[in-house]
Amino acid sequence: MESFDLDHTKVHAPYVRLAGLKRTPSGDAVSKYDLRLLQPNQAAIEPAAIHTLEHLLAGYLRDHLQGVLDVSPMGCRTGMYMAVIAEPDEQGVLNAFESALRDVVAHDQPIPGVSELECGNYRDHDLGAARGHARSALEAGLKIQETVLLER
Ligand code: ZN
Repeated sequence: MESFDLDHTKVHAPYVRLAGLKRTPSGDAVSKYDLRLLQPNQAAIEPAAIHTLEHLLAGYLRDHLQGVLDVSPMGCRTGMYMAVIAEPDEQGVLNAFESALRDVVAHDQPIPGVSELECGNYRDHDLGAARGHARSALEAGLKIQETVLLER
């Protein structure tokens, strides 16, 4: 599990990091990225806010990056995982994430997919806090994070 090989004390959030590259049996590449908003073990995004970020980034990342397969919250609530077809360059992923976060900051419409029919916990959202986390990450400045492996 490549995510457990990362030394979480040696990263500097916010960042994007190429966490892994997989090939399907037919040879297509799938890249997995960490989109980290908060420094691990220093802070965590409130559950309602990361739930809202999940709903918003699902759409906004796809507006800025081709081939996005999945965007999911990290269980530690410090960021999101993203799986994307092919091998987009890291700078392109960083630019897309920044653009998507700007879209989150500017979002003043109802949150997409928030109804009892579409969502598994539709009351558990916080747009204001989600926008605040997006703004904070942009103000801190996103970087490309190299993988720092744990020494075992
Ligand atoms: Zn939901």
